Amino acid sequence: MPRSVTNTKTTAKKSGPFQRGYAAAKESAASSNSYGDTLFWFKVQGDKHRAVEEEVVFLHEYPTVVRMHNLTREINGKTVPQSILCTQDKSCVACDMGARVSSQSVFLILVPSTRDDSEFVVRRYMVSSKAIPQLERLSEKKGIAQKFTNIVRTGNDTSTTYSFELGDEVETPYSVEDVAELLPESLAEILLEIWEDNDRPEVDDAEAIEDVYESFLQRILQMDLDVFNDNSDDYSLSSFEARGKKEESPARERRSGGRSTRRSTIVVQDDDDEDLPF
Ligand SMILES: [Zn+2]
Repeated sequence: MPRSVTNTKTTAKKSGPFQRGYAAAKESAASSNSYGDTLFWFKVQGDKHRAVEEEVVFLHEYPTVVRMHNLTREINGKTVPQSILCTQDKSCVACDMGARVSSQSVFLILVPSTRDDSEFVVRRYMVSSKAIPQLERLSEKKGIAQKFTNIVRTGNDTSTTYSFELGDEVETPYSVEDVAELLPESLAEILLEIWEDNDRPEVDDAEAIEDVYESFLQRILQMDLDVFNDNSDDYSLSSFEARGKKEESPARERRSGGRSTRRSTIVVQDDDDEDLPF
């Protein structure tokens, strides 16, 4: 297990009607959908043949860095990419399947809702290793948390690149409670629980806020992993990995550590161009 993923207790401190309401919401979500509520991944959508951009708000300054497997799963007859946390030990089912693992930087961000321009939704955002130095530079110079940031995507497939343009600060910084209001109920409950366990830091307590969002992202990734472990037969290697496997034995893959040119190309494709629904 990665050090950072902990089994935070699930018993809420509060009691009363809200508590029962949350529990009921969670139960009904679980019965109707094997995922329950999940936090969707953000991806710059749109025309692949010209530059497209989206304005988002980073909620914290530093990424949560994790090792991930990129798999696919059939959902309603459609093959969709699924990023699964690597436990980095013998218990990792995805490693057993021969899935490649790569280091990923994950942020919690706010994205304008496609349904209502005045509203934001909460998303996870995986920044490719290629784009991280640029974001790091912005973070060091001016800070990215609680600022509008344009994410610009140019090119497509293996030539996709991302750039970041910093905009204004948000008028009123988003507190953890504000963010919770933009989440599905069961996820809001998890976030608020972590926030309370961390002594309810205010939005200007940057270090404590980082801890809250990092723990929250870890919990979400762990929830995905639990679903995967319970249904691993439904998952497959992505076509890129499956293609790579045919040409290269797993032992060779391990030795090369993803450094050969062809493997690097695959990394780019996986990082930047998969349509991540979750
Ligand atoms: Zn693994």
